[in-house]
Amino acid sequence: MEKLAYRLCAALALAVFPPSSGIAKSLAIDVGHSIAHSGAVSAYGKPEFAFNAALANSIAGHLSGQGTKIIKIGFDGMMNDLPKRTPLANAANADFFLSIHHDSAQAQYFKPWQWQGQTLQQTDHASGFSLFVSRKNPQLASSLNCASALGRALKQDGFHPSRHHAEAITGEGKEWADQANGVFYYDNLVVLKTAAMPAVLLEAAVIANRLDEETVRQPETRQRIAAAVAKGLANCGVIRAAK
Ligand SMILES: [Zn+2]
Repeated sequence: MEKLAYRLCAALALAVFPPSSGIAKSLAIDVGHSIAHSGAVSAYGKPEFAFNAALANSIAGHLSGQGTKIIKIGFDGMMNDLPKRTPLANAANADFFLSIHHDSAQAQYFKPWQWQGQTLQQTDHASGFSLFVSRKNPQLASSLNCASALGRALKQDGFHPSRHHAEAITGEGKEWADQANGVFYYDNLVVLKTAAMPAVLLEAAVIANRLDEETVRQPETRQRIAAAVAKGLANCGVIRAAK
């Protein structure tokens, strides 16, 4: 009888205070662009989509290994319709939306260079990661809190934020949301403003920069970014901290 009472109490406690109380159970990871519309071109002439897919797979593998449920969006490269991305996350009741991209720079900073007999375009002007949030997202405070946590975790592991998007030039001049941690406001980014849950877009590196590209294409760099993303999302309460 005592045992039964204990079991009932334990069951009741679990019902009222589930172990995951307050901790998100699922994360939507969105791979920016597609095979047909592949985004920016890297300094070595590679499509941005390939970098986005590789990094998203590293992040998904790392986080699912820690027990986070991952909702994969655009991983197969066939997602050509931008407005169809967030409805998949909304329908799955994802607790957080993370869009993975790699960055470029404004055209005036590009210089031609030769590689394997080809003339390609590169820039040394911009380098590093950027994070974006939208003031049109219904959960701006949580979005910004996690974007700051992601930037902080990346910096702690030796990555640096880019200032390029804050430059007072045509096409940039974006407003800082958290300058210390590399976070900008970008209100009209479709996936950020149409997500029902907190949402952040990560530009992991400037692939138009040769050094950034050489670094970010290394599998160990992708693993380091994945670990920093896991740490940042744990620090802002979206996932459980790794044991
Ligand atoms: Zn992109």
